[in-house]
Amino acid sequence: MPFTIYNERLEYESARQYAYRILRRNILLLDMVPGEPISEKEIATSLQLSRTPIREALLDLCRERLVEIYPQRGTRVALMDAQLVDQGRFLRETVELAILELACKTYTKEQIEELEKNIEEQKEEVNKNDLISFFLKDNEFHRLLYSACGKESVFEAIGFYFPHFSRERMLRLQMFNPEELICDHQHILDAIKKGDCRTAKMHLSQHLDHVMCDQKILLEAYPKYFIQRD
Ligand SMILES: [Zn+2]
Repeated sequence: MPFTIYNERLEYESARQYAYRILRRNILLLDMVPGEPISEKEIATSLQLSRTPIREALLDLCRERLVEIYPQRGTRVALMDAQLVDQGRFLRETVELAILELACKTYTKEQIEELEKNIEEQKEEVNKNDLISFFLKDNEFHRLLYSACGKESVFEAIGFYFPHFSRERMLRLQMFNPEELICDHQHILDAIKKGDCRTAKMHLSQHLDHVMCDQKILLEAYPKYFIQRD
């Protein structure tokens, strides 16, 4: 079972939090691939912990639908669920279009500058070829859109879906074009600056369409990583 210990236990972390963080990262970065069996014992040994915090961390991940636990057959990394991602995209689009309505009316100069700075950082990460950091900046861009109109907790509520988007994005890493995404972000921001809500919304829908377009390709390229429904 390939398993990476990204960094040592942080001072404030409980054993359960530490196990959760390391396991989650392994799953999101696809070091542990969808469908892979998980051995509590091996993880406990690698992390030098007892099995109880590992079991608790796995239960937390099960609630996030990143791990599947079968009492008789053991535990495995959850398969990717195209329907779940589709529903996440639906929720995100519905909410984010409404966020843009507010954005075009209320954003201050400082908030626009913060978004501009974020786009510059996205470009830097792409120049450094650090796509994982680019993804984080991309998520941050969207978080800023919500927080700038006082809707941080809405973003947190939608956060349930983000790890599921992330896994698909990791799988698509070799095939996708970050410049295209940066371009979308820039177009959205330019339209907000002009107060042109219609154009901002059009670019956002297009932006989120990349997710579904990617998904179609992935379903064909990696069928064994996805839940199959006929
Ligand atoms: Zn984005």
